Formats: sequence, structure tokens, C-alpha cells
Amino acid sequence: MFDNLSDRLGKIFEGLRGRGALNEKDVAAALREVRRALIEADVSLEVVRGFVEQVRERAVGHEVTRSVTPGQQVVKIVHDELVAVLGEEAVPISLNAAAPVGILMVGLQGSGKTTTTAKIAKRLKEKQNKKVLLASLDTRRPAAMEQLKVLGEQVGVSTLQIVTTETPVQIARRAQREGKLGGYDVVIFDTAGRTHIDEELMAETAEIKAEVNPHEVLLVADSLTGQDAVNLARSFDQRVDVTGIVLTRVDGDGRGGAALSMRAATGKPIKLIGVGEKMDALEDFHPGRVADRILGMGDIVSLVEKARENVSAEDAQKMAKKLKKGAFDLEDLRTQLLQMKKMGGMGGLMNLMPGMGQMKKAMAGANIDEKVFDRQVAIINSMTKKERANPDLLNASRRKRIAAGSGLQVSDVNKLMKQHRQMADMMKKVSKGGMGSLAGMFGG
Ligand code: GDP
Repeated sequence: MFDNLSDRLGKIFEGLRGRGALNEKDVAAALREVRRALIEADVSLEVVRGFVEQVRERAVGHEVTRSVTPGQQVVKIVHDELVAVLGEEAVPISLNAAAPVGILMVGLQGSGKTTTTAKIAKRLKEKQNKKVLLASLDTRRPAAMEQLKVLGEQVGVSTLQIVTTETPVQIARRAQREGKLGGYDVVIFDTAGRTHIDEELMAETAEIKAEVNPHEVLLVADSLTGQDAVNLARSFDQRVDVTGIVLTRVDGDGRGGAALSMRAATGKPIKLIGVGEKMDALEDFHPGRVADRILGMGDIVSLVEKARENVSAEDAQKMAKKLKKGAFDLEDLRTQLLQMKKMGGMGGLMNLMPGMGQMKKAMAGANIDEKVFDRQVAIINSMTKKERANPDLLNASRRKRIAAGSGLQVSDVNKLMKQHRQMADMMKKVSKGGMGSLAGMFGG
């Protein structure tokens, strides 16, 4: 997600940043590009219009300070506006109410509602030690009730016994009673969805809401939703006053527009994102970091955090330091390759890396798969310590020796060297020049 947007904005700002002075025409041209990039990322037209207008107003009225170029200022304004639209801080699910705390899940059919319900239950149980009860109110699709039951069993969370003759409101009432009597901390209500918004769905959802008076109303929405995102979010928000949004399939090739659109249309925080089908593929949404990521600054914090889960704190710190310093030798590449393998391959990690767009393309050219990891590590293993620390030493005869040592071709060694150079350049760009130097200016 966000790759294209990030790429596009990166290029626009690349052009702007070099300039010493900017006139209104430059700003207007850049904003036209920003507008186009947002539309291509599937941000709704209405939101794009508001966004660009906001940036223009702030850009025109902006004091010119000596310390930064006008181009940098525009970048900063766009960044700030992105943060304003996405929100500054991650907003967790609130359980700050009398037990059992009710969470109502709403959204269209197929959005990932049932899956997300089970994911949230698992998280509350494991991370917050909560006793959770799940109830499916989807009386039209017995299969949906069954699905929740199966997922509940899978994550070790109770589900309300299925009674097929009850109405959704009756089930909701029974779930609440059971929640109280059974000493549950949280009851999550999984409502029925439709393939599109209709009055009947809204009326039913509103009726359920009135019955259970939930503490949280979470709208589950597919991040692949395009121009419909605003309409969808607004419709639900107007009828059932959502308290937060969960974006699913963020692991897919959504272009990121839905996140901006929904948040802008409702002002409600995106609380969580679904990043896969597995029950633990649920993450907090960090708006500030996403804004950074959209602008191509990478997400070093997430990268380090992710690494920390898999790698010792010490290693993670070392890596972060190296990234920041822009010093990146072959030993580091080897460490990274091994860590990447541990962390489930390239895809996940790439999204967190600075300059990921270009990087992904560079890597796609190298056709990375798990076996390639092993081969690359083998190549580096065949190098001496000195060679690893100083890749410039690797002349033709050394490369030949290394190829023979790792049982591969010289062309494989060359490929690896090229890849290393690309990565090192990217890191350097991010940490010294490029967007990296702007990070400080943003206070981030
Ligand atoms: P519901 O009709 O809204 O309850 O949707 P489901 O929970 O049944 O989900 C529909 C499909 O989407 C299922 O195959 C899920 O495994 C899948 N799904 C849900 N969330 C995610 C996600 O974050 N990423 C991916 N890749 N698939 C998801």
C-alpha cells in the first residue's frame, strides 16, 4: 500500500527541493502533480480537492524562512497536511467502560468483519488478558455464524451459542446477558453485512446499536475500496456513529487512498489494520508514521520495532544506527538478508524501508526469493572480513575466487555487488541528503 503515492510524491518533491526560489507558478504546478498523485492513489476526489486547497492556502500565506528552501517548505506543508488528515497518534481500542464492554463490528459483507472480530478477540485475550465473548448477529447467513464459531475455537475465545430462530436484536440481548452472567470483560458483536449499503442494513445496524449501546463501534472496510470509500464511511458514521475504523487487506495492493478518504470524511481514527488472513495479522495504525512513509521517508521506527520482535534489541539498535549513519557494508547486508529471511521474506520488510518504491523495483529485477537469500549469504560468507567491510576491494580476481568459493558464477557476485550498492545509496540518501534531512525539520 502507498507505494505509488510515495513514488509519485517523491519525484515531485525531488524536482522542487533543489530550487532556491519558488514562484506561485512552481507551487501551482507541484500541487497539480500532488493532486494527480492522490487521485491515482484512489483518494476520493472530494478529499483530494479539500487537501490541495488546504495546502495551497498554507503555502501561499507562508513566511519564507532562511533556513529552508521554499521547496522544502512545500514538502513540509504537504507532510503536515497528511498528518492532519491521517491523525497524529495511534488510537487504541478503548475498554474504558463498565464490563462487559461492548464492541460492535459493522461494515459490508466480505470486508473482513468476521475475521477481524476474531483477530481483535485474540489480541484482547493474549495482550490484555481479557475474557472475551463473541456473538454473530448475522441471522441471514448461518454460515457466517458458523465461521465465527470456528474462528473463536481457533483463537481460544468463547462464542455465544447459536440459536437460529432469534432475530439479531434478540441475539444481541442474549449475548449481553451471557456477558454479564459469565463474567466476561468484553463482548464483540459481529453484525450482518450486505454487498452494498442499503437502508435495511443501516436500519438493522442502528437498531442493534440502540439495543446494546456499545462502547466502540468499529467500521471494518477493505483498503481496496476506491472512490466509494467516502460514501461508505460517511453512511455508516451518520447512522451508527462509528468510533473507529479498521482497514483490512492492507497487505494487498490497495493504493492507500481509502485510508486518507475515510479518515478525512468522518474524522474518525483508523485504529487497526488487517495485514493478512492469519489470526495475528492485525496491527496498530500509526498515522504519523504512515505520513512519513507516504512521503518516502521510510518507516525506520516500524522497521526497528519489527526487527526487535525477531532480532535481539542489541542487533536492532546496531541496524538502526547503521541506517541512520548511511554506512552500510556487506557484513550489514548479510545480517539484513538473514534477518529478512527470519522475518518472512522481502515483501513485508520492503514496505518499511526508506525509498521502498525504487528499492522494490531494484529487487524485483534481482528476482529475490528465499533461495536467492541463501545464495547471497553464501557469496558474502566466501568473502574475507576485509572485503565485507570494504566492497571496493573486490576486483575481478577476488570476485572469481568468491564465486568459486560459494559454488556460484561471477555474474551472481556482480549482481549482489550491484544490489548492495543500490541499497547503500538508498540508505545514504535517506540518512544524509534526500528526505532524511527533512525528517529533523519535521520534528520527526
Ligand atoms: P466478512 O464477510 O466481512 O465477515 O468477511 P470475512 O471475515 O469472512 O473475510 C473475507 C475474506 O477476506 C476471508 O477470506 C478472509 O480471510 C479475508 N481477509 C480478512 N481480512 C484480511 C486481511 O487483512 N488481509 C487479507 N489478505 N485477507 C483478509
